[in-house]
Amino acid sequence: MRKHIFNAGPCKLSDPLLKNTSEAILDLDGIGQSILEISHRSKEFQAIMDETVELMKEVLSIPEGYSVLFLGGGASMQFAMIPYNFLKSKAFYLNTGTWSTKAIKEAKLWGEVVEVSSEEKDFTYIPKGFDVPKDVDYVHITTNNTIRGTEIFEDYDFGGLPLIADMSSDFLSRPVDVSKYAMIYGGAQKNLGPAGVTFVIIRDDMLEKVVADRKIPTMLQYKTHIDKGSMFNTPPVVNVFAVRETLKWVKSLGGVDAMNKLADERADLLYKTIDESKMFVSPVVKEDRSRMNIVFVMEDKYKDLDKDFIAYAAEQNCVGIKGHRSVGGFRASTYNACTMEDVNALVKAMKDFEAKNA
Ligand SMILES: *Cc1c(COP(=O)(O)O)cnc(C)c1O
Repeated sequence: MRKHIFNAGPCKLSDPLLKNTSEAILDLDGIGQSILEISHRSKEFQAIMDETVELMKEVLSIPEGYSVLFLGGGASMQFAMIPYNFLKSKAFYLNTGTWSTKAIKEAKLWGEVVEVSSEEKDFTYIPKGFDVPKDVDYVHITTNNTIRGTEIFEDYDFGGLPLIADMSSDFLSRPVDVSKYAMIYGGAQKNLGPAGVTFVIIRDDMLEKVVADRKIPTMLQYKTHIDKGSMFNTPPVVNVFAVRETLKWVKSLGGVDAMNKLADERADLLYKTIDESKMFVSPVVKEDRSRMNIVFVMEDKYKDLDKDFIAYAAEQNCVGIKGHRSVGGFRASTYNACTMEDVNALVKAMKDFEAKNA
């Protein structure tokens, strides 16, 4: 039986992705070669890459003037590539959690970082109403904080300053006005596909903003990958195939609007269960609660039951709910492929466990 998978990333993927990718691993479209065996320069793979890029543009309504890239190195490589390419003297970073903190560390290698942070309250909210200096090279945000369970739901506009967003963990979960962003990026392994490929959506005019007097290794230049259509070196072939399957699946269900509705349904039920419970509590400010990573903890008097609940949930086939090691407690990651059936199973496990132990 397939488990109810709440892993934070890699995470649950859609059934059509699993089925079609397994078939392509045995034989790609009846050509007598596996997707693992074909050349990335073959016409078969070029068609897959082209279709994947086109589907990204269609599903996310990406306007003219943007390139869609599929790279290696993870979102973590982007933490370094962004300042390496674009940080001349000063950048603004909104620090909303562990991943933003890591991005800031890389940026500081190349210039000054002006930072607004919610760290003093353990990143349990998204800072608002802050000022951004007009003379920064770019603004960096993390739209969903996978570990702390907060999320930014609006598309910010800081007076036309280039806005760069790490959307690793809420990509494709809602409509986004891409025109507000200079760049959107993320590791695929949370909402888009298996681990091993990084997506980058970059406005082409950003190439004019690359620091001119810095020598940047070829592989770390955005221009290299834009010019070669993500084929400067061997791209992660099977991952791109799998990403295409996700995009086809999202489109078939009604696109990001449909994903948006499903995300609400899943998160509403889980937060309602938490808020009505005497045992579980959400540490996150209500208006900033993530729909993708539902973080919750035990009330103090039940703290020693953490392990028991995780074991009980596992017996009910709910896996992956242990909180990140830096936060403790629990985290149910409810990405696009998570169904109401999965959520209902977890809700039942929470209620039954509470009835037995509270
Ligand atoms: C997982 C995650 C990352 C790191 O991604 P890698 O692909 O492992 O480098 C960065 N940012 C966010 C928001 C994440 O959730």
